[in-house]
Amino acid sequence: MTATADFPQQRIMTEKHPPVLEVEKLQISFRGDDSSTTVVEDVSFTVGRGEVVGIVGESGSGKSVTSYGIMGVLPPNAEVTASKMFFAGAHDLVRLPSKKRRRLQGKEISMVFQEPLTSLNPLMSVGKQIAEPLRYHEKLSRKEAKRRTVEALRSVGIPRAEQTYSSYPHELSGGMRQRIMIAIALVCEPQLLIADEPTTALDVSVEAQILRLMKKLRRTTGTSILLITHDLGVIAEMADRVVVMYAGQVVEEAEVYELFREPRHPYTKALMASTPKIEEVRDELESIPGAVPTPSKMPTGCRFAARCPKAMEICSERPPEVELGSGAKTRCWLYAEQETGS
Ligand code: SF4
Repeated sequence: MTATADFPQQRIMTEKHPPVLEVEKLQISFRGDDSSTTVVEDVSFTVGRGEVVGIVGESGSGKSVTSYGIMGVLPPNAEVTASKMFFAGAHDLVRLPSKKRRRLQGKEISMVFQEPLTSLNPLMSVGKQIAEPLRYHEKLSRKEAKRRTVEALRSVGIPRAEQTYSSYPHELSGGMRQRIMIAIALVCEPQLLIADEPTTALDVSVEAQILRLMKKLRRTTGTSILLITHDLGVIAEMADRVVVMYAGQVVEEAEVYELFREPRHPYTKALMASTPKIEEVRDELESIPGAVPTPSKMPTGCRFAARCPKAMEICSERPPEVELGSGAKTRCWLYAEQETGS
């Protein structure tokens, strides 16, 4: 992805957002033939009503698996536990029976995936694919569902909406297909939209259009957005608050302005240093040495220790904790020491 991480404007929060999604101590493991591998551990965050929360991290950080766990679309060998995973204060997403969960999916919680061509049904017209959740969740007649679908196509900026209704995915451009995915996700006006790398497969100009569209929809419908991306440029453009994940854990959480003004965790700082900025001309971008540890070989102490320029003795011996509660959070011994005054 080519967007630069320009410093975000300070977004003034005039009121506290009541939570639409509360996740506390989420853990996701996959059962193998004779063992189980944990890929997400001790992940906690909230998404407020009308808020955009970005989850950022390298490949292998667990951000997409976290979003699939919330959406309930993990394969059958996945084990999801959490001390709390509540949607709209009323639905316990860990213990929800699959029939009740299906009623939420596509109606109250929707998802946009990275690659629309593999997510859309190639044998069904895009219009029918948008109309499907309206027929299933809202029990609309064919005629009324078609009317709402054409409206949805217009709202995501599809030209000649009536004609496009009958088009098949392969007849549309990548940007149009992603708009179709967004129309499917938003047609039932969900409370929460989970967008997993929604612009990664698109070129820069189409990406800008899609981000503008998501901002407009959030403004007009009040939908909360959980935005999964590896791209700090997209985070700066879109998010109110940011959750940084590394090796299956949250390592930092902060308001977007604070995170860009003063990143705390050494991993967040390294991510920022490896992202191009428009005002800086550099021959080479900094890269983070080493690689994310694999889930089956997690270190005993801090998971970032082998790559961290600030690592201390304690870092390899004991894992740092992250505190729960509101405000900025950092999982790092540097800050634990400051807080305990040692
Ligand atoms: Fe670096 Fe230690 Fe902080 Fe881990 S706990 S990020 S190794 S300073």
